[in-house]
Amino acid sequence: MKLIPPFTYYKPETIEEAISLLDEFKEAKVIAGGTDLIPLIRDGKYTPQKMVDISFIDELNFVREEGGYIKIGAATTHSDILNSKILNEKTNVLVQAVKNLGSPQIRNLGTIGGNLCNASPAADTAPPLLVLEAELLIQGSKGERRIPVKDFFLGPGKTILKRNEILREIHIPSEVGKMKGVFLKLGRREAHTLSIVCTAVLLKADTEFEDIRIALGAVAPIPIRAKETESYLRGKEVTEKKIDEGTEIVKKEVKPITDVRGTKEYRTEMSKVFVKRAINKALKGEVECK
Ligand SMILES: Cc1cc2nc3c(=O)[nH]c(=O)nc-3n(C[C@H](O)[C@H](O)[C@H](O)COP(=O)(O)OP(=O)(O)OC[C@H]3O[C@@H](n4cnc5c(N)ncnc54)[C@H](O)[C@@H]3O)c2cc1C
Repeated sequence: MKLIPPFTYYKPETIEEAISLLDEFKEAKVIAGGTDLIPLIRDGKYTPQKMVDISFIDELNFVREEGGYIKIGAATTHSDILNSKILNEKTNVLVQAVKNLGSPQIRNLGTIGGNLCNASPAADTAPPLLVLEAELLIQGSKGERRIPVKDFFLGPGKTILKRNEILREIHIPSEVGKMKGVFLKLGRREAHTLSIVCTAVLLKADTEFEDIRIALGAVAPIPIRAKETESYLRGKEVTEKKIDEGTEIVKKEVKPITDVRGTKEYRTEMSKVFVKRAINKALKGEVECK
């Protein structure tokens, strides 16, 4: 195993302090849990000379409901999300995604902000946040900006964040708690593995699909919403035939690649299979937002 090159470590206690460090040192890099960053440094893909550790900043570690939103601090760990009463009761689809993310050790260190900012197409928290239509609060020295999560990702490893900005909070509209949500993941093993395909589905349906939102990860350069499939199904009767016809469209919406985890053909087929499975599970209320 390669050694990590020496760097200067900063442990700010406030967001302002962290941002002023990023402003002062152009070569500084934010670190939260380090579960994505440290392996990249070991591989020689990054050699930051200064690291600003945001994981001890209290203002970035919380889950609370206020002003019609469930708000999550960006440095909240996956374990804290898994154990959050508010999230379990109101946006269970995010909790489902975190349940099988990595291993207990990874969940104890890894953060939701790190998962998003690392911008892997396979980031497991992205599809739930896409269907929940979450907004991101970003802070820099010139102030704050809010953007929908769908506009955050630019490509593998790339986001709209500027070098001296910090992802501060994730805001989920509270009203989505009325919809049924399901997250499913296909990996090479049951746990401790990155997704070959993952999907989040949120729906409201009785005899017809009143509303349906579908997102997928690991099947395009960025996590995506399957908008054409959603439009086809919205307003349609809930029948096996319609679900089958609708989910066939998913295969045209994904743009997967072949890599060590799976071929593009396999990912395309599995996208349909997993979206269909998630819809059926949500309809049966097998996993439901309260
Ligand atoms: C063995 C193993 C298994 C894994 N399994 C999974 C899995 O199943 N599913 C999955 O999705 N991921 C998985 N991962 C990836 C990783 O654990 C997650 O992406 C994790 O959430 C990253 O969070 P972190 O706090 O460790 O990020 P870090 O490594 O600290 O940071 C990641 C990147 O985000 C930036 N960053 C972090 N926080 C902020 C912020 N608030 N503002 C601005 N920039 C920020 C950092 O500068 C860095 O570029 C796995 C990793 C390992 C090592």
